[in-house]
Amino acid sequence: MPNRRALIGAIAAGLLVTAMPLAARAQEKLPVVASFSILGDFVREVGGERVSVTTLVGANGDAHVYSPTPADAKAMAAAKLIVVNGLKFEGWMTRLIKSSGAKATVATATTGVSPLKGDDDHGKAGHGHDHDVDPHAWQNAANAKVYVANIRDALVKADPAGQAAYEANATRYLAQLDAVDGEVKAAVARIPADRRKAITSHDAFGYFVKAYGIAFIAPQGVSTEAEASAKDVARIIRQVKAEKVPAVFLENVTNPRLVEQIARESGAKIGGRIYSDALSDASGPAGTYIAMMKHNISEIEKALAAGPA
Ligand SMILES: [Zn+2]
Repeated sequence: MPNRRALIGAIAAGLLVTAMPLAARAQEKLPVVASFSILGDFVREVGGERVSVTTLVGANGDAHVYSPTPADAKAMAAAKLIVVNGLKFEGWMTRLIKSSGAKATVATATTGVSPLKGDDDHGKAGHGHDHDVDPHAWQNAANAKVYVANIRDALVKADPAGQAAYEANATRYLAQLDAVDGEVKAAVARIPADRRKAITSHDAFGYFVKAYGIAFIAPQGVSTEAEASAKDVARIIRQVKAEKVPAVFLENVTNPRLVEQIARESGAKIGGRIYSDALSDASGPAGTYIAMMKHNISEIEKALAAGPA
């Protein structure tokens, strides 16, 4: 009976084959979609090994003006949780959620953040009604903690078995956010008070300004959709000269032409590239939120701290 052993082996193998998909399913990661790179980083930090994150607007991408792809719709349809910024940052997400037939829970990361007004005294006529609220709340690390708490709670709801892991990851990461918040404040304190001002192309640093006390002036509003008018640019050049604003900064998501023009015509120096609405790719200086905050404040301190030689 040489085949008896083989038969038992085959039955055992058959059992294994039918048992395997179940085991594989149990280890499947929770599919999560994040609308842009900074949220994707937060979800990865809190979700760890339990989640698989798809980020729609990737490194150096501009989420204000994004056209979703068919692959995005597919990821949305497969997701169990979708994380958005809210505060009218990614208006296209609402349409994409509908058109993709997504059934996932949608978590708004800014829930509980005190929103700042968008176009305030910038005198931009004829537009801005869509941008009456400033969406860039992540630029204050204290707000980033609100984002992370919301993401933690949404992950626990979507995957209750992971509660302990999500809570432990969030606690560890929230402590890192506290540390980076302290680092930014310490760096600002080293910059002479009369030099705590700079220019960026679009108004992405309102929350940073309020939290940390560096005044950022921008020719473009809180969205990149509307172009700055020649009048706004001329006004800012006058302001840079009158208030001796030391530096202008390039942004990773906007065309540098405008701030280069302001630097040229006002005599302010170009203080490097800071990351406003998106991370850099992994090999760049701002591959994570924490790296971004450290890079930005280091560029800002370098450009503003030293007076003219
Ligand atoms: Zn922006």
